[in-house]
Amino acid sequence: MPLLPSLRTLLPNTPIWDAGELASRDPGFDARNFGASALVRPADTASVSTLVTFCAERGIALVPQGGRTGLAGGAATSPGQIICDLGGLAKIEEIDPFARVAIVQAGVTLGALQEACALHGLDPGIDLAARGSATIGGMVSTNAGGIMAFRNGTMRQRVLGLEAVLPDGRVFSDLTRVLKTSAGYDLKHLFIGAEGTLGIVTRLALRLDPVAGASATALVGVPDAASAQRIVRHFLGQTSTRLAAAEILWRNFASLMQRGLGYAPGQLPLDAPCLLLLGLGADTMEAARAALEDGLAAIWEEAGVIDGLVASSEAQAAALWRLREETEQIERAHPMAPSFDVSVPGGGLDAYVARIEAGLKTLDATYAPYVYGHLADGNLHISINCAGPVPHDRHEAIEDVLYDGLREAGGSFSAEHGVGLEKREAYERHADPVKRDLARMIKGLIDPGNVMNPGKVVKM
Ligand SMILES: Cc1cc2nc3c(=O)[nH]c(=O)nc-3n(C[C@H](O)[C@H](O)[C@H](O)COP(=O)(O)OP(=O)(O)OC[C@H]3O[C@@H](n4cnc5c(N)ncnc54)[C@H](O)[C@@H]3O)c2cc1C
Repeated sequence: MPLLPSLRTLLPNTPIWDAGELASRDPGFDARNFGASALVRPADTASVSTLVTFCAERGIALVPQGGRTGLAGGAATSPGQIICDLGGLAKIEEIDPFARVAIVQAGVTLGALQEACALHGLDPGIDLAARGSATIGGMVSTNAGGIMAFRNGTMRQRVLGLEAVLPDGRVFSDLTRVLKTSAGYDLKHLFIGAEGTLGIVTRLALRLDPVAGASATALVGVPDAASAQRIVRHFLGQTSTRLAAAEILWRNFASLMQRGLGYAPGQLPLDAPCLLLLGLGADTMEAARAALEDGLAAIWEEAGVIDGLVASSEAQAAALWRLREETEQIERAHPMAPSFDVSVPGGGLDAYVARIEAGLKTLDATYAPYVYGHLADGNLHISINCAGPVPHDRHEAIEDVLYDGLREAGGSFSAEHGVGLEKREAYERHADPVKRDLARMIKGLIDPGNVMNPGKVVKM
C-alpha cells in the first residue's frame, strides 16, 4: 500500500497531511520544515510509538517537530521523510504546587505552561521570546537557554524526568519527579539537546520556581560590556530583590531595532556603545522600581553609566523589551542574514567583540555585525549586516573569525540554538574530535537504522 493510505489505516483518528497540504501551510521559522512527504500528529505516546515502529520497519526517516521556532535547521525535512508533529500532545497533565513540579506533554508551549504555573505563583524558570510557539519538547531537544539561564540554568537543569519513544518504537520511561536520583547512568540527559536524533520526547517532569511579586525594567547606556557586568554583579549581590534578566545590546543592533520599531530619536538612551536591559523582581512593583533606581544610583559612577531610565509603566517596559526581542527587524533589513549564537566566557566579551569586528572587516570592509544577547551568561547572538545566504567559502571564513579560539577559551560555538543542519559543518571543525566519535557511537547504538532525524547534528 502507498505511504499515505498505510498511515491512515495505521492511525485512523490521527491528523495526517500529505505533501500538498504541507506546501500550503506556514512552515514556521525555517522554510525547509515542510519539505517532507507527510505530517502525522499523534495524540499520545502509544500513537507516537506506533508511528515510529512503522517507520523503523520500513526504514523511513522521521523528523520530530514542536513549535517550529528552532533556528538551527534541526526540524528541516526533505521528500521521503515523515514529520512527527508533537502538537497533538499538548496537555499539562499536572501542576503540583507543593512539590513545585509540572508533568507536561512535549507539545505544550512555553507560554501555556507559564500561564498555568502563574495561577499557582510559580514559573517554569526559563523564558525566551518565542514563548508563544516554542514547545517544551522542542526546548528540551535543543537544550534551550534564554533570558533566565544565568540564574536557573538551561532546559537541562529544569528537567527532572523524561519519557521518549526510541527509534525502534520502545518507550524509554524515566519520568521521575524528584531532584535526587543517583540510580546509575542518568540517561535522560542523552535526549536533552539531541535535537530529535535519538528519539521523540513525549512527556516531561519539570521543576518550577516561585515567582517574584512584580518585576521592574530598566534600560541603561554604558560604555562597554565590562561596565554592564559591573552593574549585573551589583544587583546579583542584593538579597532583597531578584535579578530576572540582564540583556545586552551593542549600538549597531540597538540602532537597527530603534529604526525598525519606529522609536523617536532621543526617546531612549540609545547613544551609548552598549545598552543593558535589566529586569528586577521584588515583592511589589514599587519596591522593584525603587530597588532599580537606588541600585543604579549606587553603581552609576563606578560603572561609568552614560544614561538610563527605569520604566514607569507596563507599556514602557514592554516598549523596552521590544528593542531586544523583535529580532525579525534583522531579517527585514537583511533577509537570511548569516546569524550565529556563541558563548564567551567570563570577562572576555569586550575583547571578543572587538576581535570579531576587526576580523570581519578583513573579510569585507562593509561588515558591521549586530551583536546582542544574554549578558550574564556570556551568550551572544551575532548577525552579519548582509543578506544571505552567502557563498559557502565566505560562510566558513565568517565562522572561523567567530569560532576560532572559543573552545580553547572555554566557550562554545553553539550556545543555545543547537547544531541542526546549520552548524553541522562547524561542529565537525570546531567540536572536540573525541566527543564527536562518542556521539557517533551513541547514535549508532540507539538508532542503528539512522531513521531518527538523520543528517542532523552527527554525521554518520
Ligand atoms: C524570536 C525567537 C527567539 C528565540 N529565543 C531563544 C532564546 O532566547 N533561547 C533559546 O534557547 N532559543 C531561542 N530561540 C530558538 C527556539 O525557540 C528554541 O530552539 C526552541 O527550543 C525550539 O522549540 P520548538 O518547539 O519550536 O522546536 P522545533 O523548532 O520544532 O524543533 C527544534 C529541534 O528539536 C527537535 N524536536 C522538537 N520537538 C521534539 C520532541 N518532542 N522530541 C524530540 N525532538 C524534538 C526537532 O527535530 C528539531 O531538531 C528563539 C527563536 C525565535 C524564533
